[in-house]
Amino acid sequence: MNQGTPPRLRFAPSPTGPLHPGGVRTALFNYLLARQTGGTFILRIEDTDQTRFVEGAEQFIIDSLAWCGITFDEGVHLGGPYGPYRQSERKLMYRQYAMDLVEKGAAYYAFDTEQELDEMRDRMKASGTASPQYNSITRVNMKNSLSLPADEVNRRLEAGDPYVIRFRMPRNEEVRVQDVIRGWVVVNTSQLDDKVLFKSDGMPTYHLANVVDDRLMHITHVIRGEEWLPSTPLHVLLYRAFGWEDGMPLFAHLPLLLKPDGDGKLSKRDGDRLGLPFYAINWTNPDTGETTAGYREAGYFPEAYVNFLALLGWNPGDNREMFGMDELVQAFSLERVNKHGARYDFQKLAWFNQQYLRKISAAELAVLVRPQAESAGWSPSPGFLEEVCRLMQERLTLLGDFTQMSAFFFEFPHRYDPEVVEKRWKAPVPACFLSMAEALEGAESMGAKELEEVFQSKVSEAGLKPGQVMQAFRLALSGEGGGPALFEMGALMGRDSVVARLRKAVELLGHG
Ligand code: GLU
Repeated sequence: MNQGTPPRLRFAPSPTGPLHPGGVRTALFNYLLARQTGGTFILRIEDTDQTRFVEGAEQFIIDSLAWCGITFDEGVHLGGPYGPYRQSERKLMYRQYAMDLVEKGAAYYAFDTEQELDEMRDRMKASGTASPQYNSITRVNMKNSLSLPADEVNRRLEAGDPYVIRFRMPRNEEVRVQDVIRGWVVVNTSQLDDKVLFKSDGMPTYHLANVVDDRLMHITHVIRGEEWLPSTPLHVLLYRAFGWEDGMPLFAHLPLLLKPDGDGKLSKRDGDRLGLPFYAINWTNPDTGETTAGYREAGYFPEAYVNFLALLGWNPGDNREMFGMDELVQAFSLERVNKHGARYDFQKLAWFNQQYLRKISAAELAVLVRPQAESAGWSPSPGFLEEVCRLMQERLTLLGDFTQMSAFFFEFPHRYDPEVVEKRWKAPVPACFLSMAEALEGAESMGAKELEEVFQSKVSEAGLKPGQVMQAFRLALSGEGGGPALFEMGALMGRDSVVARLRKAVELLGHG
C-alpha cells in the first residue's frame, strides 16, 4: 500500500441532495488527515446516476464546506492536474476500463431486459430465495455473454442491442479487506452479486467510476461513510481484476451518525422534529421551494459546528473537548475513530456554540449582532451596543438569540412577565419605585453604584428587604424576571430611562 508517497485524499459526494451532516464529517476527517500529512485534498463529484441528480446540490456542497473552513487543493471548482473532477465529464473514458475487464474475463455483457430481470426475481422468490441476485448461479439462465453462444453475442452487439456490463463475481471465494478502523473484514463472494459496472446509457456505475478515478487520481486513502463498507470487497476485487492491487488505497469506514434519541440513523426529520437546523447552511429544495434551516443562517459559529462534528466518532484520547481547526489537524488520527455509531446531540452542538460565543470579545460580538439590531429597527452607538454585548454575552447560546433576549435595552418592555407580576408586584413595592424614581431624578449622575445606593436606601425606608423587591425592580426595567447583572443593566439604560421605566411600570401594573 502507498507507504511513503505523499497522501492524496478525496471527498467524493454524489449531488443527489443537500449535503448531510455525515457528509460534512467525512469531508472534515479527510481534510484533517490531508492537512496533517501535508497531503492533497480533492473534491470529486460523482454524478453518474443521472436519475438522482439534484439541481444546486453541487454548489451547496462547495458552499457548505467553505463555510466550515474545509478547503481543497484540487477539484471540480478548482481544477487540477487530474481533472476533470466531475464524473459526467469523464464519461467517455470509463468504457475502455469496462471493456478491459470484459477482455480479461472479469466482466461480461448482459442483455437482459427489465422484464426478464423481474421474471428471474419472481421465479427465485417463488422457489424460496428471499433476496434474489444476479450471480454466479443465476447468471447461467440469463442472457449474457457467459451464457449465450459467442456468435449470438456478436450479433447482438453489432445490432446495437442494449446491454450492461456486469462484474463476474467469483463463486465462493473469501475477500479480505483491511479497514483502518475495523481491522480485517472478511466477506465470501457467494454473498455478493454480479454488480453492474457500466450501464446501457453509456455511463459507468458508482463502483466502476469510483475505483477508476481513485486510481487515476492517485488516491492513497479512501475515508468514507460506513454505508460503503459492503461495497468495498467488490472494489478490492476490481483493483485485483485491473491488476492494480499494489497501489490500492487504505480504506477507513466512518461510523454512522445516529439519532439524538432512540435508535437508527440520523435523518433530516430529526431536525424538523426538534425545530432545529440540520444542514450547514440553508437549503432550498429546487422542486418545492421549501427551505430547511442551516446553522450558518441560524447564527452558529462554523468553528463550533466543526468542533462538534469532529468529536462524533473520534476522540483525542483524553477529556479535551475544545478544538480549533488547527488543533484538530494536530490531534486527529484515524486510529482513534471508533466503530460504533455516534449520537448527533443537537444540545451538545448548542453547548459548543455557547463556548465559542463566550470566547470572542464584546466588541467582536457587537459587530456580529449589529445587522440583527439594525433590522430590528435599532441604531445603537457602537459603545452602547458593545456594553449590551458585554452584559448579555454569557447568556446567549446563539448569535440569533441576541435581538429577542436583549430587546429591553433598546425598547421599553412590551409586556411584563405575568408570573413575576403575580408573585412580586405587591404594595408597598410600587410606591417604593416611585420614590426611587424621584430620588434618581434629583441625582447628579447615575452609575451602577449610585443606582444600587438609591435602591437600597429606598427599600429600607419602605421597611422592606432587598430580596422582596429585587425581582420586581428588574421586572419594571426589563419586563423579565431574570437577566444580566441588575444595577449594571440599569446603569446602561441610563438615568432618564430608568426613571421613566419605573413610572411606566407603576402606571401599567398599578400600586399592587
Ligand atoms: N459518491 C459516494 C457518496 O456519495 C462516494 C463514496 C466514496 O467515497 O467512495 O458518498
